[in-house]
Amino acid sequence: MHYDYLLVGAGLFNAVICQHAIKAGKTCCVIDKRSHIAGNIYTEEIAGIQVHMYGAHIFHTSNQEVWEYINQFATFNNFINRVKANYNGKMYSLPFNMATFEALWGVKTPQEAEAIIEKQRAILQGRTPKNLEEQAIHLVGTDVYHTLIEGYTQKQWNRPCNQLPAFIIQRLPLRFTYNDNYFNDSYQGIPIGGYTKMIAKMLHGATILCNTDYFDFIQQTQDTFSKIIFTGKIDEFFHYRLGKLEYRSLHFETEILDIPDYQGNAVINYTSYDVPYTRIIEHKHFEFGTQPKTVISKEYPADYTDGKEAYYPINDDKNNALYIAYTKLKELYPNIIFGGRLGAYKYYDMDKIIASAFEVCKNEKLR
Ligand code: FAD
Ligand code: UDP
Repeated sequence: MHYDYLLVGAGLFNAVICQHAIKAGKTCCVIDKRSHIAGNIYTEEIAGIQVHMYGAHIFHTSNQEVWEYINQFATFNNFINRVKANYNGKMYSLPFNMATFEALWGVKTPQEAEAIIEKQRAILQGRTPKNLEEQAIHLVGTDVYHTLIEGYTQKQWNRPCNQLPAFIIQRLPLRFTYNDNYFNDSYQGIPIGGYTKMIAKMLHGATILCNTDYFDFIQQTQDTFSKIIFTGKIDEFFHYRLGKLEYRSLHFETEILDIPDYQGNAVINYTSYDVPYTRIIEHKHFEFGTQPKTVISKEYPADYTDGKEAYYPINDDKNNALYIAYTKLKELYPNIIFGGRLGAYKYYDMDKIIASAFEVCKNEKLR
């Protein structure tokens, strides 16, 4: 059989492309080496609860085009991510806001909080921050840094904060109000019924083959494809001929508990270096669940080695240069488009993934 597109990876990026292609009358074959569709946003129902099997996923965006698009395939609830942090048994509010400063210093006004941060920032002696540690102290002072950032970040990245790029911490808002919404975006929510159902709708009309690795499949198939969209690892595609890109991995320990509520919140971060996991997710709270049981996942950071999942690209100078060298090799394959978080070697939130898939659709005249 001839297909217009072979879509390698059944994650969100290819789901957007597949949906556009099918609508435009094209034929698509979607393969994934995993046993299921939906990539990292895969959810599975356990004890009546949608469990986020590859880590908590909250959809948030300020891009109206993306929001209207994704709402065609799911109804989103009105979940707002309000993360709490446990440091040595005491609870704090995240992201950094007046409730955090009140818990740390007993302050009641933005002026008092700003004055304390200003004083603590003096340790930098006016230097422009050149790494994550300095950036964090510059933003929120030494107390917040030692309580809520240092241990968590060092666990997550397995490197001291003064050896990490400053931009990682810029993802977190800092507010001198009591607004504890983890995100600044205009739209936010969780798809009712889970992400897997949403992706299944987007892939409708395609041939879908799970447990199918591209590198074996392409040797064995008799089918032909006009174009290939590859959302696997770009260095693997080129058989690591220029070297390996580095990633951080994770592993999750998921338990079903015979109680209705374990922690009273969807996400609680553990910010001390001494606790081996970075956060505990209680999945039912993403959907305001009232089931008699609950499901929790402890999220442990892990080194990335062969066979593990590549979760976070390590975008330091060395890896970024290697990635650029790989992008030059793409020119040898004009009928292959590389995309998604692994193909682009970038930490992309879901809305950015959709927006980047729109670009491919436009270039392909599908949108
Ligand atoms: P993936 O979902 O990774 O899909 C790629 C697919 O390709 C995979 O299924 C893989 O098995 C398959 N594949 C790879 N190689 C091959 C091969 N050789 N042959 C066949 N198949 C192959 N974003 C948000 O907006 N909100 C959040 O709250 C959020 N939380 C996150 C939490 C964590 C822990 C992480 C790591 C990411 C989070 N993200 C979040 C980002 C989100 O996961 C991504 O934006 C999204 O999953 C990217 O989709 P994708 O299609 O590019 O990649
Ligand atoms: N971070 C932190 N303490 C927290 C949560 C986050 O120091 O309690 C830092 C950490 O460096 C992390 C970054 O902020 O890598 C971005 O956090 P986010 O929640 O966006 O994503 P994560 O990397 O934890 O998936």
